[in-house]
Amino acid sequence: MIEPTRTGLLSVVLPAYNEEASISIAASTIHQILIQADIAHELLFVNDGSKDGTWREIQSVSQTLPMVHGICFSRNFGKEAAIFAGLAHANGACCVVLDCDLQHPPEKIVEMYRLWQSGVQVVEGVKISRGKEHALHTLAAKTFYRFMSGATGIDMSRASDFKLLDRRAVDVLVAMREKNAFFRALSSWIGFSTAQVEFEVQPRVAGVSKWSLKSLVRYAFTNLSAFSTAPLQLVTFLGLLVFLCSLVLGSWCLWQKLNGQALEGFTTVILLILLIGSALMICLGIIGYYIAKIYEEIKDRPRYIVAQQCGGTHDTTVEKTS
Ligand code: UDP
Ligand code: MG
Repeated sequence: MIEPTRTGLLSVVLPAYNEEASISIAASTIHQILIQADIAHELLFVNDGSKDGTWREIQSVSQTLPMVHGICFSRNFGKEAAIFAGLAHANGACCVVLDCDLQHPPEKIVEMYRLWQSGVQVVEGVKISRGKEHALHTLAAKTFYRFMSGATGIDMSRASDFKLLDRRAVDVLVAMREKNAFFRALSSWIGFSTAQVEFEVQPRVAGVSKWSLKSLVRYAFTNLSAFSTAPLQLVTFLGLLVFLCSLVLGSWCLWQKLNGQALEGFTTVILLILLIGSALMICLGIIGYYIAKIYEEIKDRPRYIVAQQCGGTHDTTVEKTS
């Protein structure tokens, strides 16, 4: 039996942080492409606490284009929160998430939508190349994704946030209560029938990247801990290793003692104390990090707070709970 081709509203979610120069270009480019492809759509810009005129731009675009909606956070909550806010407010039968600097080529949305129409529930944009970036950045990203792929069991080396999700997948993601939600990995983790669309990372239309070294390192640790407890197993592994060493060394010491020659060497003792001391500190640090994450989750604060909206009739100010 041939399944009837699906059709329905497409919601385009665009997180924006200090992107005043990109907003109107992004809105008109995406709008034109979708009009030409005859796809009913809405554009949802999420202003993630920008310090420039991003919100003013979103408001003015929403006045000229009726299908543009804007959500304004009370402060910067990060890209993941912006994506989830967009998904929670989307009305479409499917949603696509892309960067509003147009580094994710918007022409690909049409290809993704056609795949969705043919019955696919999750369409992932995978990078052919990473675009222009510093060699050190590429190396750090590769290392991070190697760990992440190991932790999630999903090949994340070419993963991106450029994804189209069916309503069912969106509902599942929005219902997830974890605060450190890593969109790129979670949207693969939920399963569903998946297809991939390859794309080249484009140069930014305007502005500069929002990632500093510090924020990237924090991002890497947060997402690793959200998906993997392997560092905690490392604690056990280190414990076992030290225990084995102590068995060997202890037996040797006793043997020496019984033979009437006590082990000489103040240096050995100092080295052992230093080694075990630092291993213990590191282990406590790792455990502490996970406890801090549990503490954050258990407080159950909203992932984001909406201060204003424009261009629509939404009424949620805080992330929906339950
Ligand atoms: N972004 C966001 N909140 C942030 C940082 C970034 O909403 O705290 C948005 C940003 O406006 C852009 C997308 O996330 O639409 C990707 O950010 P960026 O282009 O700076 O990252 P890169 O492409 O360099 O990885
Ligand atoms: Mg970008």
